[in-house]
Amino acid sequence: TRTPTIGGNWKMNLHKAEAIELAAALAAKADDFAGVEVTVFPAFPYLIPVADALAPAGGKIKLGAQDAYITPNGAFTGEVSLSMIQDAGASVLLVGHSERRHVIGETDILVNDKVLAGLEAGLDVVLAIGETLEQRESGKTDAINTGQLGYGLAGVTAEQMKRITIAYEPVWAIGTGKTATPEDAQKAHSVIRQAVAFLYDQGIADAVRIQYGGSMKPGNAGDLLAQTDIDGGLIGGAALKPDDFAGIIAAA
Ligand code: 13P
Repeated sequence: TRTPTIGGNWKMNLHKAEAIELAAALAAKADDFAGVEVTVFPAFPYLIPVADALAPAGGKIKLGAQDAYITPNGAFTGEVSLSMIQDAGASVLLVGHSERRHVIGETDILVNDKVLAGLEAGLDVVLAIGETLEQRESGKTDAINTGQLGYGLAGVTAEQMKRITIAYEPVWAIGTGKTATPEDAQKAHSVIRQAVAFLYDQGIADAVRIQYGGSMKPGNAGDLLAQTDIDGGLIGGAALKPDDFAGIIAAA
């Protein structure tokens, strides 16, 4: 029995007042979120005000960062360190989102460095993986997912796997309104879980949470989350509206 986990990835959206308003609205609903782990990922400048706005929820809503750099501090212009996001109140780190891989150009090696550094710093880490449309259409879905998984988790110990969540986000489903069918998503999740069993053991594979991400909305969340190997969602667009996000949490 895996605790469902729902994340709101706000991406590069919402300025300060909107971010605070959304966080406060979610904090006011936090009592309804019992039995579900809920995390929000605001943009860097708003981690602190969002942490403050979530405080009335008494830890029921976790704060995550969408990225961080691997070295503790130093001469890395423009980057934000792991200790800075922790100082700002974050306990979760998102790594390997497809927008960072495909738009910003992060490699599997940097993704792995960030996973290891985040775990070393004591954060929970969400490792995002997923195939592009071209990769899916050429029959490479499982190869891409298991490849990104293996690279991403290289060097992660069995003990550290307790702090890993995997987010399967088919790139073609992100922000497009094209959700994977529950069956296609289940198939991919099942392969990813088998790969975790291969890399670690069946116990770790049975325990690890695998979230689905890609145009998840209140209307399709129930069918997706009912699948055996889908343990939650990582939500973009629908996480920007408190009622939609709460509706997805209610379906978990
Ligand atoms: P959408 O829900 O907007 O498709 O975004 C999904 C996502 O990328 C979450 O990280």
